[in-house]
Amino acid sequence: MRQKIVAGNWKMNKTLDEALALASEVSNMVKDEVNTDVQVILAPSFISLTAVGKLIEGQKRLALAAQNCHHKTSGAYTGEVSVDMLKSIGVSFVIIGHSERRMYFNETNEQLAEKTNLLLQNNIRPIFCCGESLEQREKGIHIDFVKQQLTESLFHLDTNQLQKVVIAYEPIWAIGTGKTASTEQAQEMHEVIRKHIASKYGEAAAAEVSILYGGSCNPTNAPELFACKDVDGGLIGGASLKSRDFVSIVKSFS
Ligand code: PEP
Repeated sequence: MRQKIVAGNWKMNKTLDEALALASEVSNMVKDEVNTDVQVILAPSFISLTAVGKLIEGQKRLALAAQNCHHKTSGAYTGEVSVDMLKSIGVSFVIIGHSERRMYFNETNEQLAEKTNLLLQNNIRPIFCCGESLEQREKGIHIDFVKQQLTESLFHLDTNQLQKVVIAYEPIWAIGTGKTASTEQAQEMHEVIRKHIASKYGEAAAAEVSILYGGSCNPTNAPELFACKDVDGGLIGGASLKSRDFVSIVKSFS
């Protein structure tokens, strides 16, 4: 059975005190209210990672994620954070390839392949984001585009490594826009992703990979999205900044 996952991407929000307050609220609510076997992941900014990590330590349903890492091991990359550094503070997941990083920081599929390798070598699981723009969808090239993102960044991995990667399908037109993909659109692309993985790694391996949906997911639409056959949870932006909304989403699995 593949893992159900809900991850909160706090992006460039929350000071240290605010991050601790949010983490504490989420931690208490998850402890008191969540009985399903779901992995809940918090991705605060680098500034708050260590403190939030300490706060949630020992809470078995909660794990710590970073929002990015550098694709080289170490060296003269002023302002960057290495995988080694993240490992040293107990990070267990890292979000890579978010469309905001691809768009504003020119991240390439090739760099994401390097990040994936470094993370897996350090026993950290990548949450690999993929997804098309509205223009690509309207041109009908969205499926090929997403397949290419997966092929170029992940298909050099062996089966064992690939199964440690969490995929997050995030149509760019749905991120932070209030426009959610319909359940049909989400299920269609999740199935495409799983079949694409199966074409290289076989159906049994593909069945074990968690594929999350991201893009204006909220407590109202999460239950129907999470009920789709190939949707194994969500990567949540805006709604992860309010503890009640985020935990409601976590509780959306039927
Ligand atoms: C995201 O940026 O990963 C995301 C899904 O954002 P939002 O939920 O705000 O659309």
